[in-house]
Amino acid sequence: GAVVHWFKMDLRTTDNTALFCASQKAQAAGVPLIALYILSPQDFEAHLTAPVRVDFMLRTLEILKKDLAALDIPLWVETVKKRKEIPSRIVELMGEWGASHLFANMEYEVDELRRDARMARLLAKRGLVMDVLHDTCIVPPGRLTSGSGGQYAVYTPWFRTWVRHVHENLDLLELVESPTKNPESTRQKLAHLFECPIPSAPENKTLSKEDRERFRALWPAGEHEAMKRLSKFADQAIGKYQQNRNIPSNPGTSSLSVHFASGTLSARTAVRTARGRNNTKKLDGGNEGIQTWIREVAWRDFYKHVLVQWPYICMNKPFKPEYANIEWSYNMEHFDAWKEGRTGFPIVDAAMRQLRSMGWVHNRCRMIVASFLCKDLLLDWRMGEKYFMEHLVDGDFASNNGGWGFSASVGVDPQPYFRIFNPLLQSEKFDPDGEYIRKWVPELKEVKGKAIHDPYGRGAAALAIKAGYPKHIVDHKGARERTLAAYKKGIDSG
Ligand code: FAD
Repeated sequence: GAVVHWFKMDLRTTDNTALFCASQKAQAAGVPLIALYILSPQDFEAHLTAPVRVDFMLRTLEILKKDLAALDIPLWVETVKKRKEIPSRIVELMGEWGASHLFANMEYEVDELRRDARMARLLAKRGLVMDVLHDTCIVPPGRLTSGSGGQYAVYTPWFRTWVRHVHENLDLLELVESPTKNPESTRQKLAHLFECPIPSAPENKTLSKEDRERFRALWPAGEHEAMKRLSKFADQAIGKYQQNRNIPSNPGTSSLSVHFASGTLSARTAVRTARGRNNTKKLDGGNEGIQTWIREVAWRDFYKHVLVQWPYICMNKPFKPEYANIEWSYNMEHFDAWKEGRTGFPIVDAAMRQLRSMGWVHNRCRMIVASFLCKDLLLDWRMGEKYFMEHLVDGDFASNNGGWGFSASVGVDPQPYFRIFNPLLQSEKFDPDGEYIRKWVPELKEVKGKAIHDPYGRGAAALAIKAGYPKHIVDHKGARERTLAAYKKGIDSG
């Protein structure tokens, strides 16, 4: 016999709920624990997973395999071409291994919930058991209800309740034990499983050699790297997070999103560590930097809770149904200019080039370019949402969809649609010296002073022409009027 843990977006051995439960079950039954990962090119396609993210996961699997092997736990990695066939293939494997019990952490997106439900039924027919556990959020989705018993659709009151709930249930932050070693005989009995190679990326998700090397240096993979980054951030930067977090040229943020997204770091460990550095046990007290960072990590929980409560947002629909009828421009030249960072708005172009170069963008700049796409170009926010997923190393459906919903005013945010970012003011406020712009739009390096925010409008036209830098592709004021009219018309017709 055996017990199986099915790894998904929880690629770590430390602080992993289902992995620990699987290990306990195996120990109690006196059978080995086998770890499984299914690589699904069709899922990557359907979820627009960025090649850089696939590469990060595959590198993580190599590390995970070694860590598990040290515990005599084999990691079996298999590619299943058709995602529909994943449940039946897992049942088959369990049959081969004589396994009676499958453990996994829950994924909350609709496709994944349906897949797991099918899987559980298939196993039940054969008298086998599947346990799917809450792990990725600190507070499991569905637990927090407002005074009237409903789910929260606004962050601030949700966060107050989240904090209270965690204070009253501090076990939610406790470190989950690591799995125990398999019986020594496992090495011999299951020798063939230990020899399973980690496959390379499927064809449609392969990086060029140059990109692979660049991204590997930028984003070292695996849970040990995540812990190193977390400790360094908690030691050196978290205390000043509040002051620095909005300055993209000097990112005072943790850069841990890639680890949260692949599950190489658990949110529990992140918040427990941050809380441990504070001078109070309160999550919403003490050092401003620590409080603010915990509040940001909680946004991740919030967007997953929203997804579970309103799953139709997984189906290309806006959270606010009355925003479904806006007539977008679908101007593909504008879309291309946005993607390639040639809109003539230096802060927007800098951010879009950072995205292509790093697979990551500073949060402030994500908001600026998202707002620019919807509110200045009047392009469908879903085009931007998809493009982000295709390029982000930290692409996460709920957070990305939440961020786009927020920026397009179609999501869980009480702000009215007529609050529109002015890209030039955003640029002056958050990149006052133009350091971020000069880094990512190097052709404007020679532009001095405030002209960096708007070279054609502020007396640096000659330099901009010489550098081949484009003029504004839209006039912000005119675009704003057009957007306000389009939103109003869309809502009125709904
Ligand atoms: P830190 O500032 O150090 O924050 C710590 C952690 O808190 C992050 O790693 C992240 O897990 C969480 N967090 C912080 N801000 C947010 C937020 N607004 N929403 C949800 N979680 C948050 N984040 C993703 O992880 N994946 C995405 O695909 C994604 N898409 C986004 C799209 C748009 C349009 C916007 C506006 C935001 C998006 N974000 C996304 C949220 C945020 O920009 C990133 O989490 C953050 O920039 C990651 O950098 P960091 O790890 O240094 O963050």
